[in-house]
Amino acid sequence: MPAPSKATDAEILALIREGLGNHRIARELHCDASRVRRLRKAHGLPNAVQQPLPLEEKWRAYTRPVDGGHLEWTGPRAGSTGTPQMRHGKDRYSGAAVAFRIHHGRPPRGYVIADCGYPHCVAPEHVLDETGRWQKRLEVREARGLGPIPEQCPAGHDMSRYARLEPDGIAYCQECKRLDKRAARGECEPRSGRPASLEEAFRRHTEPVDGGHVRWTGPTPKGLPTFWFARRPHTAYRVAFRLEHGRDPDGLVKPGCDMPQCVAGPHLEDRPMRKRTDSLFTAIFGDVA
Ligand SMILES: [Zn+2]
Ligand SMILES: [Zn+2]
Ligand SMILES: [Zn+2]
Repeated sequence: MPAPSKATDAEILALIREGLGNHRIARELHCDASRVRRLRKAHGLPNAVQQPLPLEEKWRAYTRPVDGGHLEWTGPRAGSTGTPQMRHGKDRYSGAAVAFRIHHGRPPRGYVIADCGYPHCVAPEHVLDETGRWQKRLEVREARGLGPIPEQCPAGHDMSRYARLEPDGIAYCQECKRLDKRAARGECEPRSGRPASLEEAFRRHTEPVDGGHVRWTGPTPKGLPTFWFARRPHTAYRVAFRLEHGRDPDGLVKPGCDMPQCVAGPHLEDRPMRKRTDSLFTAIFGDVA
């Protein structure tokens, strides 16, 4: 139970007459909102009318003109991407999407981003939606004489569905791009230039470093060096161990050296090897545990 409020009815009524809402009064006077509501009713006082700033006005308050006709966003941004974002009522809006509505008087199609080169610019004349981007880049493509967009990408995807254009008018396949991103995250096999053997696939993601260690440059889903070969994932530790010892490891394999995620064959240990190291340690230094 919250501590009983020391606010008097007179104090609460004074704030009601000032036009504050029930919850605001409850917060300021540390009392129950239901008590404010009851008092309001008992005295026949109307509910406070919330006057939220219109979306566009709120948006303007978050912007600042900068050189070159760009508009800088001074308001809140989304987590890791830094994308201008604002709340209005219960909804979230991207700063660029509101800019688009202001300029075009209609909701955007697809995501909105400025095409002017100024990072996260929200100038209404600089932002484009998917349709606008396509139109503008198609014009660039035509002006450069790059010819019609191919019907298929080199991997055979239907370009009438997957073609997208770079700002310089160069066409690319969105499906290939998506697959490449998945491969980079270690979720599937790389699309092109398939390695001939498991060893070759493993070596592609390795880099020797000082001290005989080998750094893993490939994907590490859940912190585990992993790569794809022949349609299934392999953990780099097990593969490196097998290449070094010519046998399958027994139990968990991990580096016994001091470099995290080292995949140097001679540095990897399976369970029996770790046991041996431990007993050797005990023999030399005694059982410290
Ligand atoms: Zn701009
Ligand atoms: Zn493709
Ligand atoms: Zn090592």
